[in-house]
Amino acid sequence: MIGFDTTKLPKLDINNPDGFTQILDRLKRFFADNKDKLLPVTLAAQNYSQKMEQVSSFIEAYTQKTCPYCGTVCCAQKHGLPEFGDVAAFLSLGHTPPYYDLHLPLSGACQFMGPRGCTIERIIRPYRCTWYFCDPLLTQIEIGPTAHYNQFIKLVQQLADARGQMLTLFYEIWTANLTIMDER
Ligand code: SF4
Ligand code: SF4
Repeated sequence: MIGFDTTKLPKLDINNPDGFTQILDRLKRFFADNKDKLLPVTLAAQNYSQKMEQVSSFIEAYTQKTCPYCGTVCCAQKHGLPEFGDVAAFLSLGHTPPYYDLHLPLSGACQFMGPRGCTIERIIRPYRCTWYFCDPLLTQIEIGPTAHYNQFIKLVQQLADARGQMLTLFYEIWTANLTIMDER
């Protein structure tokens, strides 16, 4: 397994809107200023995106059966706000992060929740949104065909590996250029 410890990355503090925005802007600037250096990350991100598509179609087959009947929808605002690694992943794929409303109540409904579920593409949702499996959802997957369950385990492992590889490469380039960044 190719893991990456995301606690090594700067923290996007959702309780500090100004600090959150400053770090987000700094990260966007880093991507804009270092396109060539970040090419290996961009390539690794393509693999991550492919794995995410595969996982997404698998998960959605199950969420369509489970979520419409849910009495305790898990999508709170605090869950829809990204971590630093999430935004690095969006930018590696050339996606612009969505606007985050940092003044909404964190325990209220996620700003991206619509009448028919999440309104943003899975690839620009926080990673935790894909990784979260409530008990009813897990049960649906577990009681399904064994081949499906085995495929699910394989896919989520491949997704985690692809993300680990992408963030490892990003971190190397980010830290190698920290001094330059800090001078600006
Ligand atoms: S993932 Fe689970 S908790 Fe979240 S909305 Fe679907 S059924 Fe409800
Ligand atoms: S899945 Fe979408 S609506 Fe739910 S918490 Fe994540 S971003 Fe928000």
